[in-house]
Amino acid sequence: MHILVTGGAGYIGSHTTLQLLERGDTVTVFDNLNNSSTISLERVSQLIDKPINFIQGDLIDTNELHKLFSQFQFDSVVHFAGLKAVGESVAQPLRYYQNNVSGTLNLLQEMQKANIKTLIFSSSATVYGDPQALPVTEEAPVKPTNPYGQSKAMIEKILSDLCDSDSEWRIACLRYFNPVGAHPSGYIGEDPSGIPNNLMPFVSQVATGLRECLSVFGNDYDTPDGTGVRDYIHVMDLAQGHLAALDYLANQPSGKLLTINLGTGRGYSVLEMIEAFEKTIGKPISYRIVGRRSGDVASCYADPSLAEKLLDWKAARGIEDMCIDTWRWQSNNPRGYREQQ
Ligand code: NAD
Ligand code: UDP
Repeated sequence: MHILVTGGAGYIGSHTTLQLLERGDTVTVFDNLNNSSTISLERVSQLIDKPINFIQGDLIDTNELHKLFSQFQFDSVVHFAGLKAVGESVAQPLRYYQNNVSGTLNLLQEMQKANIKTLIFSSSATVYGDPQALPVTEEAPVKPTNPYGQSKAMIEKILSDLCDSDSEWRIACLRYFNPVGAHPSGYIGEDPSGIPNNLMPFVSQVATGLRECLSVFGNDYDTPDGTGVRDYIHVMDLAQGHLAALDYLANQPSGKLLTINLGTGRGYSVLEMIEAFEKTIGKPISYRIVGRRSGDVASCYADPSLAEKLLDWKAARGIEDMCIDTWRWQSNNPRGYREQQ
């Protein structure tokens, strides 16, 4: 199978690209390198011992997209490309809607023209907003609380309308919970630019000494220890979820829209994550409790049973693997891929 991976130079895209290549698929990565560099793909190429087909381009540029689809005959598309910082999306909503929604529309139009109708889309648990009931099932109301989440919800709606209009489309919207960890080689991983927004990259940068102290955003939530609870999922498990979704869609007798949670079903608090990381590295992580971060919810964790039932996929890696692999990546690459630039 020849699979187009948009955003394949990024964190989740690079891990998925590697797994697709490992199982024998042909992959073309399309990425504008807005939040990544080609070093991730060079590393993937070294791990698989094969060259990677990479096209630098932007989903916003319809000419580039048209050229891409004229050049190759893809069987399916795994669509990671998008902007993902919640705070930035509040400050720059137009940029987020333009990049994420318009970029996806451009992609879908080219796919339609080329008669390629199988798509895996990176959605997010952010679409649930502040969930009313836990664990969160796919039936829970979609109520995003920021432009980033709105852009994901809008794309999901567009994809649903598309499937209604034409029964040949096979689409999976994968709602990721909190991706963490790295490839066990420590060769590829998450490389946030600037100060990390997410918990685990921040914790691991405190561990290497790049940052002084972690701010824990609030210890007065209605959770067992007062700190926020999330469903952290190892990026290797997440990548495998994409392969399972591609297989599922390929085996459907006709068109299909699948909306599915990819999480572990287990929530961990911020303090539990710190403790697990301290255990892994054998030294304390310096942190202080500060006020709540605006827009944060107390708890969010998945009911992952639909993924297990339909995709025969279940997260296999626990918190220990998440910490060990995060640490291997971070300690081998304290400045991420920039070390080499
Ligand atoms: P990432 O930033 O590492 O990867 C996204 C890639 O897309 C980057 O390489 C970036 O350069 C590229 N890109 C962005 N806009 C583009 C455009 N217009 N044209 C071409 N390339 C473009 O992010 P990630 O963590 O790997 O996330 C991948 C996807 O998963 C995103 O859509 C994100 O919203 C979604 N997601 C991520 C998380 C998370 O916490 N990491 C959680 C839920 C959902
Ligand atoms: N968090 C924190 N300090 C940080 C970053 C995150 O205390 O520097 C907390 C945050 O409040 C939330 C959890 O860690 O409870 C996960 O946050 P993250 O940004 O990683 O994911 P998301 O908010 O998108 O679920």
